[in-house]
Formats: sequence, C-alpha cells, structure tokens
Amino acid sequence: MELTSRQEKIVEIVKNNGPITGEQIADQLSLTRATLRPDLAILTMAGYLDARPRVGYFYTGKSGTQLLADKVKHITVNDYQSRPVVVQQSITIYDAICAMFLEDVGTLFVVDTDTTLVGVLSRKDLLRASLGKQALESMPVSIIMTRMPNITVCKKEDLIIEVANKLIDKQIDGLPIVVEVDRGSGYEVVGRITKTNITALLVDLANDEMI
Ligand code: ADP
Repeated sequence: MELTSRQEKIVEIVKNNGPITGEQIADQLSLTRATLRPDLAILTMAGYLDARPRVGYFYTGKSGTQLLADKVKHITVNDYQSRPVVVQQSITIYDAICAMFLEDVGTLFVVDTDTTLVGVLSRKDLLRASLGKQALESMPVSIIMTRMPNITVCKKEDLIIEVANKLIDKQIDGLPIVVEVDRGSGYEVVGRITKTNITALLVDLANDEMI
C-alpha cells in the first residue's frame, strides 16, 4: 500500500511522539480531527499504527514487508481456490487423459463410488503410463494413481502459506481441499488449490487488490 504524503507525515509524528491522541496529531498538522479521521483509520487498518483507548496512537514499528507478511499469514485456502475435477477409479487411463484435456486441469482427483477420495493423477502419471506398451483403453486409473493414505490434503480453513509450504516440500502442483466424512475415516473433495491460485495471490498482493 502506498501512503499519501499526509499519511506519511502522520506516521512520522506518531513515530516521534507516540502515544499521541488524534487531537494532538491534528494540532501538529494544523488540521481538524475530523479531516484526519479517514487517514488514521487507514493507517490503523493497514497496521502502521495501533490505537489504544484513552492512550492514543502509537507506531507499531512494522516495515512494509512485515505488514505484508502479516497479511499473507492470515489468508486461507477458502480465499483462493478452484473447482476440483474428479474422476471415478474405474475409468480407463485413456479416458483420464481425455478428461484432463477437456477440463483443462493438471491434476485429477480419483474417487470411489461413494465419492470418497482414493487417488491423485498428475500429468506425468498419465504420460508415464502412455510410454509403456500398456492398453490405455482398458486399464483403470487405479493401477497408476498415487493412492490414499499417501495423498497430501488441506482444508478450507487452512492457511494458504501452509499449502505453499506443502507444495514445495512434496514437489507437487496442487492439493485437494477436503472435508472429513464417515467420522474421519475418509475425505470428500470439495475444492482444489494449485500453484496457479498462489500465483494469483501474488498478483493480487502486488496490485494491493487482496480480498
Ligand atoms: P507432475 O507429475 O505432472 O509434474 P505433480 O508434481 O503434481 O505433477 O505430481 C508428482 C507426483 O506426485 C505424481 O505421481 C502425482 O500422482 C503425485 N501427487 C500429485 N498431487 C499429490 C498430492 N496432493 N498428494 C500426494 N501425491 C500427489
């Protein structure tokens, strides 16, 4: 966030004189308290200043990058996610390849007849299967998929930074967003979060357009 010159002056005054009341800041700038109110609200909301009742404003001492880091650490999976593309474990490898093209995704999630998550199929899983002399039109995807319990998952309320760490740590492109079903014995897929979602977050941060 870029500060206006008046906001920068306010930050300087609070830095040097805090804790200081809104009235006193207004006096120093020869402005009214009412004129300053929106600027003080913005600076407090953005985390540059903190306000304590009956004490006044004080400088939080946080740099722009620290404030950005604080912001990122509060963003959840729920804020940045995509629609999941799910296939049945009985479909053939050939049909999974078609589904990947038609749905324009890089990862397919595989479910059983109860819609419980049982596997993951990446582009390279399908490429690898296509390299062999296997009968792609008759072999089910269950033979080549990465299976439960080896699937890394996340929940809607998880922090996006935790997801980013998992993607790097496991060297994968995306995670299924799941809810527990049958008292924790399985997962149902309700969303998908990928490197693309995290790139979108980076762009929003740079444009200061975060939700
Ligand atoms: P690609 O293989 O196309 O580069 P990934 O890096 O996402 O795509 O996948 C690497 C391997 O990890 C694949 O074998 C895939 O089945 C598996 N994989 C992908 N996503 C997950 C996940 N969320 N949990 C566990 N394994 C996964």
